[in-house]
Amino acid sequence: MPDIPSSRLPGFHRLDVEARWRELARRGDVSPEELHVLRALGSPSFEILNQMIENAVGVFALPLGLGLNLTVNGRDHLVPMAVEEPSVVAAVSYAAKVVRHAGGFTADADASMMIAQVQLTGYGSPELARERLLAHREQLLALANSFHPALQRRGGGAREVQVRILPAPEGPQGEPLFIVHLLVDTQEAMGANLLNTMAEGVAPLIEQLTGGRVYVRILSNLADQRLARASCRIPLAALADFDLPGEDIAEGILQASRFAEADPYRAATHNKGVMNGIDAVAIATGQDWRAIEAGAHAYACRTGRYGPLSRWTLEQGHLVGRIELPLALGMVGGPIKVHPGAQLGLKLLRVTTVRELAMVFASVGLAQNFAAVRALGSVGIQKGHMALHARCVAVTAGARGLDVEKVARLLVERGSVKVETAREILASCQAVTAP
Ligand code: NDP
Repeated sequence: MPDIPSSRLPGFHRLDVEARWRELARRGDVSPEELHVLRALGSPSFEILNQMIENAVGVFALPLGLGLNLTVNGRDHLVPMAVEEPSVVAAVSYAAKVVRHAGGFTADADASMMIAQVQLTGYGSPELARERLLAHREQLLALANSFHPALQRRGGGAREVQVRILPAPEGPQGEPLFIVHLLVDTQEAMGANLLNTMAEGVAPLIEQLTGGRVYVRILSNLADQRLARASCRIPLAALADFDLPGEDIAEGILQASRFAEADPYRAATHNKGVMNGIDAVAIATGQDWRAIEAGAHAYACRTGRYGPLSRWTLEQGHLVGRIELPLALGMVGGPIKVHPGAQLGLKLLRVTTVRELAMVFASVGLAQNFAAVRALGSVGIQKGHMALHARCVAVTAGARGLDVEKVARLLVERGSVKVETAREILASCQAVTAP
């Protein structure tokens, strides 16, 4: 395996954008051609836009930042993050740095097993229909695989047929729902289109075998056969900050974790923090982030009660964080080979397989969560957040160029990060510089 450059880039945040580009090129993170792609990301050709969606009229650009310091299973990764919210990139980089000094993240991910669903109605006896279908398991799998022979040649394909009979939502008078699951190994693809083709393809045989009528045929975004997990283990001393001892910070994090376990109102916000990181890297690598979001929140509710995707405990003098969530990602398919930014994002990440990609995503989610609960359980998030938000406030108030940083700094110093205050500061700066 070739040597991977470190994800530690001290002082990177202080460079201007031209200097950051030069640094990435010097380190070999991007080739000269990729540097050209990076510079042109905000203006892809109309041809590409038209290939991606209908009625394209322009580009809605988001800033692309790099999360630094991440190490997962001993390998370093620069994390491309497309996100409009200030502090997300800084938080991930900070958390990854703390965890890096404690040995980095440990992660693993399941094979790319996805679920296609076929809804059958008018089947008569559910037990008999189930028996008939399962008796023809091989025929169903062979038919499903016939729609994607290349997937089988790559080592993937349809693997299992399952039947789920669910109570009718309208009560005992309704027909129980008869749902056929097709489990498919999609290899390096997210697999939505692959699965949908298979689900539609096997539907006529399911009707023929049962005498029923098929309606809905589509993948499930609750990809709970395709989980990724990450963990980290941080010595308490390494947590000391804000003039607080590590024990105190750890206690705040443990309390935040308990809060999220006990209260869905808190768990939703806890998980939003996790997804801040995961969505940003998903967008930057061309993933279907709506699918990831849907899967994550459905998984968070798997016990019948919405809960946190990550948890924090104290183990032998260490703060231990663990996260587990479904991650249906792709290294191929969808827009990944079409959008030059997605290709570049994957290149920057330096992952070679979709499972490795999922491990990095899970680690990013845990890093983001660590940064949030660390601040929440101690000094609060507004201190760091408002400092970064101040730049947006300054721009909203009309500041441009060098004035943006100046106004933002004064907003923070005054402890009033408000547009009105920014206007006052701007007006007084302009009055001073007026001839
Ligand atoms: P594609 O339809 O692009 O399929 C992936 C293709 O990649 C395969 O058919 C295969 O084609 C090719 N391929 C090349 N190498 C590999 C490999 N090593 N492993 C697997 N496939 C390989 O994408 P997906 O099926 O992944 O679908 C993802 C898209 O579907 C996303 O854009 C998503 O937004 C969208 N979608 C999502 C839905 C949802 O989540 N509910 C619903 C509908 C669509 P070949 O064998 O011909 O080379």
